[in-house]
Amino acid sequence: MSIITPAVHKKIFRWYTSHQRSFPWRTTRNPYRILLSEIMAQQTQVRRVVEYYRRWLKRFPTFSSLAKASASDVLREWSGLGYNSRALRFHRLAQQVSSQFHSRLPKTPDELQKLPGIGKYSAHAVACFAFNAQVPVVDVNIRRILTRVSKKISSASEMMNDDDAWKFAEQVLPQKNAYNWNQALMDLGGTICTARNPNCSECPINSICASAFSKKFLQKYAVTKKQEPSWKGIPRRIYRGKILKLLHFHSLSVDEIAGLLWNDCTSNDTVWLTSVLDIMVKNGLLIAVKKKYSIVQ
Ligand code: SF4
Repeated sequence: MSIITPAVHKKIFRWYTSHQRSFPWRTTRNPYRILLSEIMAQQTQVRRVVEYYRRWLKRFPTFSSLAKASASDVLREWSGLGYNSRALRFHRLAQQVSSQFHSRLPKTPDELQKLPGIGKYSAHAVACFAFNAQVPVVDVNIRRILTRVSKKISSASEMMNDDDAWKFAEQVLPQKNAYNWNQALMDLGGTICTARNPNCSECPINSICASAFSKKFLQKYAVTKKQEPSWKGIPRRIYRGKILKLLHFHSLSVDEIAGLLWNDCTSNDTVWLTSVLDIMVKNGLLIAVKKKYSIVQ
């Protein structure tokens, strides 16, 4: 029998009633808005997403408005949020949804997953949060909770593999109200069962959690944490956003971009910048023609 019993469901629902976080996408069932929030929140802190989400919706309020935009306008609006290829994937998806589905997303996770750029997580999130499907959702926060609850972990970064996490999430899903259940677990992972500093004494399920009050794993986390790539103390994603802004109206050479990024540009800067530009070309964000870079159209 699972350790997550109906009594545990109740504890989590009760906790969620008084501790839920307020986000603009939680007051809508609009599939476009929910998918947008899910894509923006991938690999980005959810608090940062709110500002971009609001601004984006003023500019591109629907699938069809996004589908009609140019790629460079889309990248410009996304600029600063990082992982810009997400913006291009969302743009292509909007074009497909507009042309093939009359701007309406399909409703089931299986159908959603057939669309470009929608993986298992996003498909389940949209099915549940927009269409009220009774399905589990497994993001990084939920995977962390499921891992910790089910076995005593030996490091803060330890996680169940994907298949096991989805199976477990399916098993422990309450019979109804998957929407609140999934949102509650996301909030619990985002505020209480955090990666490095779980607050077990405030956790509503500390009485059944196998890893509750385990201090050892926190010490190991510092060793395994990945550093964000950066240059001169500034994260690479910031440079990528600046490059997209510089290229919005003009094609530029690597030397021209370097001159605009740094007053005192060195040959090492140019070498590093060239490697970043090459990756952006490889990721489909830029094209290079006759040694000039420009944004894909
Ligand atoms: S008791 Fe601690 S480790 Fe377990 S789920 Fe709660 S916060 Fe996470």
